[in-house]
Amino acid sequence: MSPGRLIDGRAIAAVITQQAAGAATALRDRGVTPTLAIALPNDDPGAAWYVRSLQRQAARTGVEVDVHQVASASATMTALARLSADPAVHGIICPTPLPDGLTAVEAGAAIALAKDVDGANPASLGGVAAGEPGAFAPATAAAVMEILASEGIDPAGRPAVVVGRSTVVGRPAALLLIAASATVTVAHSRTRDLAGVCRGAEILVVAAGRPHLIGAGHVAPGAVVIDVGTNATEDGGLAGDVDTAEVQPIAAAVTPVPGGVGPVTTAQLLRQTIWAAEVALLG
Ligand code: NAD
Repeated sequence: MSPGRLIDGRAIAAVITQQAAGAATALRDRGVTPTLAIALPNDDPGAAWYVRSLQRQAARTGVEVDVHQVASASATMTALARLSADPAVHGIICPTPLPDGLTAVEAGAAIALAKDVDGANPASLGGVAAGEPGAFAPATAAAVMEILASEGIDPAGRPAVVVGRSTVVGRPAALLLIAASATVTVAHSRTRDLAGVCRGAEILVVAAGRPHLIGAGHVAPGAVVIDVGTNATEDGGLAGDVDTAEVQPIAAAVTPVPGGVGPVTTAQLLRQTIWAAEVALLG
């Protein structure tokens, strides 16, 4: 059997960025600068790296990124309320880790729904669950669906397994797959026989944060494997949750780490910011 395709996340991101840049130009022609505000409540190196990569990608897309450094739980809440009320801001994110005394639910709930472009507000997750057309899913979960679409894979009727049930990735990815008519199983840290459950998948989405959790024994021949995991390695690199070398000979296609879900997530977040600006313009 020939090895599975390595899915090129950067190429998929480039297509999303090209479309988004066209929409951003149209907005600018109408006097609107699509703007993403980042309330940055930490000096974490990982968050700083993420902000820099967003800024680079935003410059290519035509989205302005404004970083608002904040130092405490109360300052974060004040900034999120202020940005939520600012008509010049279309999207808001608040990268983790959060300051002591502030939960992800509290911070997310402080982001206006219309600007919640990374689906951090629990009400956005409710909107995604209810199938509300305007509800923003977390960009990573939306990126999973974009990758499947760009690979020409219609989830309808297919068994899909999502490993991970976090509100940031696993849960919303499962909801989007259900909306796309897949037959979805959600596996997690208490799942018995993870390998057996995963082998039932034609679409396997892994978001566990455990390096190389998924190996050859977890994958059915011909499955499509989307690896969301990003785990820092000792040599300063990045490892996925999937052992790509083991899985690629069995799968039909697999996303690499890096170069898979990550770039698509960034492109999707900026596109969701542009959608928010379009909705704001239409009133
Ligand atoms: P999390 O820690 O909040 O959730 C992990 C989930 O995996 C939990 O539901 C847990 O039950 C499950 N899990 C953990 N160990 C398991 C095991 N041994 N077997 C089965 N399930 C297990 O993490 P998260 O925020 O959902 O992130 C998951 C991964 O995705 C991390 O590596 C994170 O860095 C990455 N991530 C990537 C992007 C991106 O854009 N590429 C975005 C967000 C998160």
